[in-house]
Amino acid sequence: MILGLDTRPLDVVADFPAIPDGWAYLDTAATAQKPQVVVDAIARAYGETYATVHRGVYQRSADMTLAFEAARRRVARFIGAESENEVVFVRGATEAINLVAQCWAATQLRAGDRILLSMLEHHSNIVPWQMAAERVGAAIDVVPLTADGQIDLGAAEAMIRPEHKLVAFAHVSNVLGSVLDAERAVRIAHAVGAKILIDGCQSVPRLPVDVAALGCDFYVFSAHKLYGPTGFGVLWGRAELLDAMPPWQGGGSMIDKVTWERTTYAPAPGRFEAGTPHVIGALGLHAAIDYVDAIGLPAIHAHETALVTQAREALRGINSVRLLGPENSAGIVSFMVEGVHPHDVATILDEGRVAVRAGHHCAQPLMTALGVEATARASFGVYNGPADIDALVKGVERVSRIFG
Ligand code: PMP
Repeated sequence: MILGLDTRPLDVVADFPAIPDGWAYLDTAATAQKPQVVVDAIARAYGETYATVHRGVYQRSADMTLAFEAARRRVARFIGAESENEVVFVRGATEAINLVAQCWAATQLRAGDRILLSMLEHHSNIVPWQMAAERVGAAIDVVPLTADGQIDLGAAEAMIRPEHKLVAFAHVSNVLGSVLDAERAVRIAHAVGAKILIDGCQSVPRLPVDVAALGCDFYVFSAHKLYGPTGFGVLWGRAELLDAMPPWQGGGSMIDKVTWERTTYAPAPGRFEAGTPHVIGALGLHAAIDYVDAIGLPAIHAHETALVTQAREALRGINSVRLLGPENSAGIVSFMVEGVHPHDVATILDEGRVAVRAGHHCAQPLMTALGVEATARASFGVYNGPADIDALVKGVERVSRIFG
């Protein structure tokens, strides 16, 4: 039993062929390891059932199309979307945000409008908005954080005004693990008629998410952080918003009819999916969602919360360690070892077979706000257990001794 929580710890590391015995993989916020069922689904799709989708009239292609569209329905059910037509398959969260920042903004953002972001956003939820704002002459406002590193929604409430056309916040911070009160954020945005995009990269693998219940307008995530394949992800958008948006890239599949005089476009989601899609990405994501759902997100959340508590308590016992972020972070703990660069921390931890990330985590404005150049970050997944936290803590004690 892990620390005080009335749940049994997960013990699923044997499902993950790329995690050898004694290796503490604590970099799931960067990318999750893959369970064998996902590896098998991908191997089967390439090795047994492979064909293109949407075009072929032969049976193999028709079957692949059914599997591809079944994955779309599976995603819709997983995130509580009302229709699979609201699920756009993209290359990842980065592409999803860029798509909204170009296609939605193309008709909805004008000179003088404002966009509201937060201080803890990942670069992929900053730079596309800067590019969109620059294109039309809009401005960006940044919501500060509370002392413990959560998006300060009180400040957001005070800052927002009718000029704000869009709010974009991370549901869970990839650096601090801070969990957004997404319902409240949605209410704040909608109170002035703004749309809200939620970056679900770190929440979808960690918390149950229901986009219809949240009432948000766009929700994005990457498959590879959800134990699925790289190069694949999801943009969920409210049907009426997607239908009103101009297309993204032009090419095959996204059209209704093409003539030299005039081309008309397919309805969503097809209009945003030009070219031969990443069929295998969809099948791999389907298998990953089945895997995660079989364990259950409430159980995963409880498991990771227990690991965070264990890690924070133990790291707090080391004098030179400074913990960042809120106590109740979701699966992610950033920390500093006094006088030691996070890269040195990560290098010494690696010598003890503990893999953590060190750097700015694609959140340079957050680093500036925290007054650091970089942090060391331990992030957890379903396969981690108390032994991994012990290895982390032993490693950090060693760092502390070496740099004494
Ligand atoms: N947002 C957050 C919060 C993330 O953690 C990440 C990945 N680190 C991204 C966006 C970008 O995801 P991807 O690189 O998979 O597109």
